[in-house]
Amino acid sequence: MSKRDYYDLLGVAKGASAEEIKKGYRKKAKELHPDRNADNPDAEAQFKEINEAYDVLKDADKKAAYDRFGHAAFEGGMGGGGGGRPGGGFQGGQGDFASAFSDVFDDLFGDFMGGRQGGGRQRAARGADLRYNLRVTLEEAYNGLQKTINVPTSVQCGECNGSGAEGGAEPVTCPTCSGMGKVRATQGFFTVERTCPTCSGLGQIIKNPCAKCGGQGRVQKERALSVNIPAGVETGTRIRLAGEGEAGMRGGPPGDLYIFIEVKPHEIFEREGVELHCRVPVSMTTAALGGDIEVPTIDGGRSRVKIPSGSQSGRQMRLRSKGMPALRGGAAGDMFIELAVETPVNLTSRQKELLREFEELSEDNNPESHSFFSSVKNFWDSMKG
Ligand SMILES: [Zn+2]
Ligand SMILES: [Zn+2]
Repeated sequence: MSKRDYYDLLGVAKGASAEEIKKGYRKKAKELHPDRNADNPDAEAQFKEINEAYDVLKDADKKAAYDRFGHAAFEGGMGGGGGGRPGGGFQGGQGDFASAFSDVFDDLFGDFMGGRQGGGRQRAARGADLRYNLRVTLEEAYNGLQKTINVPTSVQCGECNGSGAEGGAEPVTCPTCSGMGKVRATQGFFTVERTCPTCSGLGQIIKNPCAKCGGQGRVQKERALSVNIPAGVETGTRIRLAGEGEAGMRGGPPGDLYIFIEVKPHEIFEREGVELHCRVPVSMTTAALGGDIEVPTIDGGRSRVKIPSGSQSGRQMRLRSKGMPALRGGAAGDMFIELAVETPVNLTSRQKELLREFEELSEDNNPESHSFFSSVKNFWDSMKG
């Protein structure tokens, strides 16, 4: 059965104000309250539905998520549901771990993904996703690399085969909630359901917990994992390794491992997507007379570039396919060099003499200055007039 729209359930229009939503909820809650509907077998389920709807729509963050994603906003998959997490900010080598992947979604949903309560689905058994931050050089991003990382994670306990019970015995139904995973309490007008405190919502408990894992069914361990970072990665690239996250609770499925790439800035090259930019100084004489220069390329090689005579600072030249490879196939990017003409310094008296002589012989050698100063003259003239 597909879920009904939360606004429909409360009998209000989409985009209704907080006040309207509250009113709608009160009205429906009175109508459907189980105490008044002893002879309506569906009332209890409907009452639950409207409570769920109100729970979402009364909360600005949840409401925003629902408006954007519908019911999908609250459905599983991310598994931030609460299992144990590896202890605090592991730092080491070039990478570090954030404790749980749900952090990544904080931007989107605030903290409610993790703090979900009372919904029908109980996913506590799935292991948490892990995040690993990996810093690579631009050269590594160009070539791709194979890297062994140490993943501090929990793995299935070998003593109890992940069951959490001594000797691998099967868990038994929780006596507190009779396996429902939830208990009910009456609070004034309402009957509230909350996660069973005895079994933490799992519906089962373990009589004799495994001594090695304390009944968790998993133990902390560091695993060496060889990962393949493809050529073309950039800052923000995410690589997902399915099933390489934390082991699940009591034999539940493992979470995923996400590797977040950050590419370090480079001394010579600046990257823009698949393009590389490089600023190359050239001498005043090379710029004036023309000539060949050698520029470095990211593959470690060099390229000869012809500088046309009369080149100005800022002139760009393109080296085809000398940029970065495209991550998802496609053509490699280009490299652009930008000339920066360098005015000579530390002149000897002989050099000064030659430049003065050159200056005396100069006529039509600086068309840009000529045109600029004639515009300036016009400007001053117009101010006078
Ligand atoms: Zn165990
Ligand atoms: Zn229980």
